[in-house]
Amino acid sequence: MLVNAKEAVMEELFHQYIDQLHMKCICERCKEDVLALALNSVKPQYVTDESKLAYIKAELIDKQKNTTMLVTLAEAARKVNDHPLCENMLKGRK
Ligand SMILES: [Zn+2]
Repeated sequence: MLVNAKEAVMEELFHQYIDQLHMKCICERCKEDVLALALNSVKPQYVTDESKLAYIKAELIDKQKNTTMLVTLAEAARKVNDHPLCENMLKGRK
């Protein structure tokens, strides 16, 4: 099993803080766009087994690093808010 630990942590943070990101649209497309942007701007950290994943998650959810990832997430959410690519938002714009 090959997993990007950052992806797992980012997803968890995203679900945890989604209300505070003030997204205009929270459809699957927009959520994926935010995650993709956020993950593209951090270095991936691959692990090959679940126990390591749990360990890294615990480490990343340490306050300091958590904040850094949250800032990245907020930045990504802002970009998607400014330029949403999903159908809902494009329709609404006409
Ligand atoms: Zn959307």
